[in-house]
Amino acid sequence: MSARSALAATRSAAASGWSRRASPRRSSSASRARAASTSAPSPSPRRRSRSSPIQKTDAEWQAQLDPDRYEVLRCAATEPPFSGELNYVHEDGKFLCGACGAELFRTDAKFDSGSGWPSFFQPVSAEAIEEEVDESHGMRRIEVRCAACDSHLGHVFPDGPHPTGQRYCINSLALDFEPDE
Ligand SMILES: [Zn+2]
Repeated sequence: MSARSALAATRSAAASGWSRRASPRRSSSASRARAASTSAPSPSPRRRSRSSPIQKTDAEWQAQLDPDRYEVLRCAATEPPFSGELNYVHEDGKFLCGACGAELFRTDAKFDSGSGWPSFFQPVSAEAIEEEVDESHGMRRIEVRCAACDSHLGHVFPDGPHPTGQRYCINSLALDFEPDE
């Protein structure tokens, strides 16, 4: 039996309901391939109902973004601390959304929090970002997202410096830096 016809047989078995029973044999390459292709991607993109000005399908985001940026921006992954290039940017300029290019932060609100992630005490404007309660991973945090495209940026904590007392803890992968001219 060819791989293709094996797969077709598996599909018709699934359609008949036969595959509800656990199959004791997972030895053919077709069934291995099928198992791999149907396993859920991790992490998976979140389905959101809220509308934002920029609407793209998950497939479009995946095609546009590098895989590591896609995982942060569209699947709310967190990059490892001290891994991001933008941790170490101190020159004047603006930090743009890595997904849509909207201006989100400026260097004059950036500070060294010691956390390993780019940290800001305020966004460029209150309208540039959206904040929402995030109760994933057994914690209660405030998630920060781009208001223009609804991409995940990071979290905000109430332990920042003067004058706002806020610490916007943002993934470097979620941002692009554009130095002032
Ligand atoms: Zn954006």
